[in-house]
Amino acid sequence: MGVTLPELQYTALEEIPARVSAARKAFLENKTRDVEFRLVQLRKLYWAIKDHEEEIAEALAQDLNKPRFETEVAESGWLLNDIVFTTRNLHKWVKDEKAPDIDLTFKFMNPKIRKDPLGTVLVIGAFNFPFQLTMGPVIGAIAAGNTVVIKPSEGAPRSAAVMQKIVEASLDPSAYTVVQGGVPETQALLSERWDKIFYTGGANVGRIIAKAAAPNLTPVVLELGGINPAIVTKNANPRLVARRMLWGKLLNAGQVCTSQNYLLVDKSLVSQVVEEFKKAYKEFYPNGAKDSPDYSRIINQNHFQRLKSMLDNTQGKIVMGGTLNEKELFIEPTVVLVSSIDDSLITQESFGPLIPILPVEDLDEAIKLANGVMDTPLGLYPFGSKAEVKKILNSTRSGGVSVNDAALHIPTLPFGGVGESGNGAYRGRASFDVWVHRRPVTTSPGWLESILAIRYPPYAGKLSKF
Ligand code: NAD
Repeated sequence: MGVTLPELQYTALEEIPARVSAARKAFLENKTRDVEFRLVQLRKLYWAIKDHEEEIAEALAQDLNKPRFETEVAESGWLLNDIVFTTRNLHKWVKDEKAPDIDLTFKFMNPKIRKDPLGTVLVIGAFNFPFQLTMGPVIGAIAAGNTVVIKPSEGAPRSAAVMQKIVEASLDPSAYTVVQGGVPETQALLSERWDKIFYTGGANVGRIIAKAAAPNLTPVVLELGGINPAIVTKNANPRLVARRMLWGKLLNAGQVCTSQNYLLVDKSLVSQVVEEFKKAYKEFYPNGAKDSPDYSRIINQNHFQRLKSMLDNTQGKIVMGGTLNEKELFIEPTVVLVSSIDDSLITQESFGPLIPILPVEDLDEAIKLANGVMDTPLGLYPFGSKAEVKKILNSTRSGGVSVNDAALHIPTLPFGGVGESGNGAYRGRASFDVWVHRRPVTTSPGWLESILAIRYPPYAGKLSKF
């Protein structure tokens, strides 16, 4: 507290083309090709994040009531670790790769793969982890040598303003710039030509982005949401299921793209799982979530009303939680026993602290139902024996999987969706790879001409010499 935050100011629409041209010019002048330049930028960014940690925490407290612990682990601390990992590895990643086993003639051509930057790229962030999900891709884009235009989510306005302050305090302004705004500003950005667009957010807007990119054949990374299932078999441990699934929905008050949207629980375990949810809730929040400093709020009225009407419309029975406070944008972690796979709590992504549980006959039914709701969710959470988990993995698709857990993603593994939950991946080494063009180069020496002459016509009699 006691920290004064900058005001969010939307970028004037008429300024946007000039910002993009400046970033393109910086790229064409090869400013960001130099690896040392990139490292300096990343180190400056590291220290600017450190210097602004209080402002980051305050902005997230005001935008989402995000607990300090979650801020340090999943926002500022996450980015700092990401920069350290990237700067430690960058020299290794940028190295030319040798071609795999080749025959002797080709070996003389010294074939290699360069890791060239793509050019000038656009990163559009989301509101729920505003720093991590916006600056995470930016770190990779800088490391790979691109110039970057950054569009934070207007949904988390204080975080967006602090992000701009950090970028402007640390990064070369000709190569990296922030554009602030909502739909009109994003549309203005999308009407420009890009070498890649990286978008994090909902699938409907994802489609708008992909369409806008198509005329210029711009590649697009889409990090979208998912109606993520948790499958709990008869051999699962109910206590573990409840504690971990509750964590998956109390983190950022369920506003997490990887959190489970619903649980399919073997009918023999349902009552135990519900009891364990109640126990875990009491243990995590002895005085309830509302009075705890360790529980976020819903981002705004729109999302609050959306979640409220999901709860109003469910045919299910609330068995834990269910308290809402509109003024405070508070929704308690709420477990609902539903009786149909078509319940809207299952078929719509809640992106909030709602935990519908549907009892199922057996594992086969659970797999069939999960595949029927969405066969390419972002995350999948199986709880059961090794053989059951193997069966689940072999009969489903998803962006990622956390066995015996919720929402977890280890930062050095590639992260991304598949099908409806998006495409392209980043984090760890993948954050660099996603921003480079693997450019194959061969150099045919003049002295090789006597051997290469075999390729020239007339072809008669030459095939047998290959
Ligand atoms: P949001 O409201 O923050 O929007 C995301 C971005 O899209 C913002 O920068 C916004 O300005 C832009 N945008 C909104 N409408 C637009 C339009 N009509 N044209 C162009 N740009 C537009 O976030 P959201 O979409 O509400 O986020 C929630 C969704 O995002 C959920 O589905 C969630 O699962 C998904 N998500 C995915 C990931 C991931 O990494 N896969 C991470 C977070 C959130």
